[in-house]
Amino acid sequence: MSGIPFIVSAPSGAGKTTLCKKAVAFFRDLRQSISYTTRKPRAGEIDGVDYRFVDNAAFDSMVKKGEFLEHAEVYGRKYGTSRKDLKNILDSGLSVILEIDVQGAESVRRKLKGGVYIFILPPSLEASGERLKARGKDSAEEIKKRLKTAVGEIKLAPRYDYIIINEDLGEAFERFKSIISAEKSKSRRMMERVKEAYEEYL
Ligand code: 5GP
Repeated sequence: MSGIPFIVSAPSGAGKTTLCKKAVAFFRDLRQSISYTTRKPRAGEIDGVDYRFVDNAAFDSMVKKGEFLEHAEVYGRKYGTSRKDLKNILDSGLSVILEIDVQGAESVRRKLKGGVYIFILPPSLEASGERLKARGKDSAEEIKKRLKTAVGEIKLAPRYDYIIINEDLGEAFERFKSIISAEKSKSRRMMERVKEAYEEYL
């Protein structure tokens, strides 16, 4: 049985990465897709865990060879999802979170079947700015760029299946967990197991 791709987008500072990390720690059959990026690692980020950090030449060569399911330029840096990595996870029956921007989500929508689209919003743009400042990992210039981009991203929220407003992390995580659990229980996804268990009665 193939796993479920969960596509999660959010403006910067919405708490998306924290929520995704908590979900991966909670669900045994859920993995995080590790993107390729030309961005430099932030303090504490590990190559192969948070991202696969590559230079422009390596990234462009992967684009040429068609190795990305989707790729996009975000805040002047390139980011992409490896086709092969994603297929390996889904084929082994595991579900996966793709933490990607709105452009990436649009292109995945055209290419991948069965995706569940989740948009995470901060309670306000001001709150988002405060979170980015508190994180202390981006310059004031970078934060300004991210908040400006956020305005365009928020307009695309209605295209997602679910929206979570992350005002309180605990509550947002409860909602996130409920969405994942409900999607796993959809009858069309459960039928393979039902048939196995109740073959003689069906
Ligand atoms: P950050 O630099 O803060 O880690 O990520 C910047 C933005 O790039 C975020 O919106 C993040 O979701 C997005 N992003 C990360 N990986 C990918 C990817 O593989 N593809 C696309 N399209 N966006 C990505």
